[in-house]
Amino acid sequence: MKKIGILGSTGSIGTQALDIIKYNNNFEVSYLSAYSNIELLVKQTKYFKPKAICIVDKTKTALLSQQLSTLDVEIFSGEEGLKELSCRDNIDLMLNALVGYSGMIHTFLAAEKGINIALANKESLVVAGKIITDKIKHTKSKLLPVDSEHSAIWQCLEGEDIHQVNKLILTGSGGPFRTMDITKFKNITKNEALRHPNWSMGSKITIDSATMMNKGLEVIEACWLFDIAIKNIDIVVHPQSIIHSMVEFIDGSIKAQLGKPTMNIPIHYALNYPKRVVNNTSTFDFLNSPDLTFEKPDLNKFKCIKLAYQAFKSGDSYPIVLNVANDLCVAAFLNDKIKFIDIASYIEDALEAHNSCNINNIDAIFDTIQNTQNYIKNKIGNN
Ligand code: NDP
Ligand code: MG
Repeated sequence: MKKIGILGSTGSIGTQALDIIKYNNNFEVSYLSAYSNIELLVKQTKYFKPKAICIVDKTKTALLSQQLSTLDVEIFSGEEGLKELSCRDNIDLMLNALVGYSGMIHTFLAAEKGINIALANKESLVVAGKIITDKIKHTKSKLLPVDSEHSAIWQCLEGEDIHQVNKLILTGSGGPFRTMDITKFKNITKNEALRHPNWSMGSKITIDSATMMNKGLEVIEACWLFDIAIKNIDIVVHPQSIIHSMVEFIDGSIKAQLGKPTMNIPIHYALNYPKRVVNNTSTFDFLNSPDLTFEKPDLNKFKCIKLAYQAFKSGDSYPIVLNVANDLCVAAFLNDKIKFIDIASYIEDALEAHNSCNINNIDAIFDTIQNTQNYIKNKIGNN
């Protein structure tokens, strides 16, 4: 039995992971967590019988305890409770399916304890890539990608030598505004931005896909996961989302990983790694397929990609600013406080206003997070 702990079990990735676990009898769920969705957390707890759970929103703790009073489950609450769970090392794998930069500390704590991590929370590596990968090397734990592009690259690299890689080619669908004229971007509504053509995901990453910041964050994620220079990573827009990413080797050979656009496969692969296990998902049919097409990303329309490359090249503190500013701007857009086009321009302003600083430890990361929060809150407040 593989013991799995899931942070963010009520979200898009968390629920898909539990669906996989439900139909495999080789997993045992050790813990689960939600921010505030107690209804689903209660259902999941009753079904999977974890030893511990955490609700981050403390106003819900009493109700949660009451609803689970007949079960033998340890109930934690708040940020501190979540940290307790991330440090539990009597498990085989932690799935970090939290959203946003607040998920970073949990990847860090698990890495410090030598816990193997299946990582969906890409923000962890954007904000603290160096510190987390150093910890992983030191404790010899494993960092397994869940993001579909990184899962694809990881699968292509199995049995290969990273030094024989020419470049990584990250594919991206281009999102809902790929063909929209840039002059219309100022009128983009929340509902339009939330309508992704191929993937059904949580709201934050859906907006990141619409601005294409998601691809920028993924380039940074790939640098840390595969220890490769940013100049060796290309982005190719592939609207059908069938090729999930590719690796080009020094001899000119290119390996790709393909499949239907479903997170089921990368989550399934990470949970079962190093084994491949039978999956009941339907497979891609080449004979009834759409044409597979490829385009160059439009960096004028999707400025966030350019900002991500610039931030990574500017030094360790800039990706923190990029990520925190993006999380806050996306939340503000979802709360109707700013417009779609403001997201990229506020992030650009935050990066310009930032004074580079050394990121040698976790405290320095939190200082930069705090400064960026102050900057963006001030800007949105003055809007
Ligand atoms: P969701 O918004 O669907 O789920 C987020 C989960 O985290 C929920 O369980 C939520 O609880 C919980 N949560 C939210 N905010 C906090 C907080 N501040 N502290 C603690 N817990 C919190 O996100 P997704 O599943 O879409 O994404 C998760 C991660 O995976 C992201 O980093 C995303 O970029 C990445 N990813 C997602 C993909 C997808 O298909 N969804 C694909 C590839 C990567 P509650 O339900 O109570 O709000
Ligand atoms: Mg992805």
